[in-house]
Amino acid sequence: MKIICIGRNYVDHARELNNPVPEKPVVFMKPSTALLVNDKPFYYPEFSNDIHHEVEVVLRICKNGRHVQPEFAPTCFDAVALGIDFTARDLQAACKKKGHPWEIAKAFDDSAVVSPFVPVEEVDLSGIRFALEKNGQTVQEGNTADMIFSFTDIIVYVSRFFRLTVGDYIFTGTPAGVGPVQVGDRLTGRMETTGGWKEMFHCEVR
Ligand code: MG
Repeated sequence: MKIICIGRNYVDHARELNNPVPEKPVVFMKPSTALLVNDKPFYYPEFSNDIHHEVEVVLRICKNGRHVQPEFAPTCFDAVALGIDFTARDLQAACKKKGHPWEIAKAFDDSAVVSPFVPVEEVDLSGIRFALEKNGQTVQEGNTADMIFSFTDIIVYVSRFFRLTVGDYIFTGTPAGVGPVQVGDRLTGRMETTGGWKEMFHCEVR
């Protein structure tokens, strides 16, 4: 499986990092070794001093397909989860400055927290509200209705380059409020479902 990630998909987040609002989706990938599931702790890596949280809605791909047409895109995912795209902001800044790829800053081990999945029938796909708490304080709040590129836009675009296969995940971008984590922090992700707000994951930084 592969983990496809979209960067800068919320205007307020693009602005907070002084990035231009993109005209096309910004795409990168993480390997399966980046996955951190089952509420396992995140061990702060030795190579960075500035690991940031980015809470994101994650799609689970349920069909194989390339060059997906817009009318079929909604049938390509069957469940959504909440995740964290952990980012070594210091390494990313150095990569960006040199025009280098981002992998060491984005795709390292355990950098992709993914909660259990909820079937698409149990969320409002026209606008999924979600939030991240750090030590009991809300630090990020988002609504997928505010994405620059919709789930359909993302699937249409990425499937032009990468064949989607069953079991792939797509991280759909983070809203404003990204910030550093420290050893000892407790992160909790919440998402609104048709049954109300649901705690999706807990992640302790060790
Ligand atoms: Mg991200």
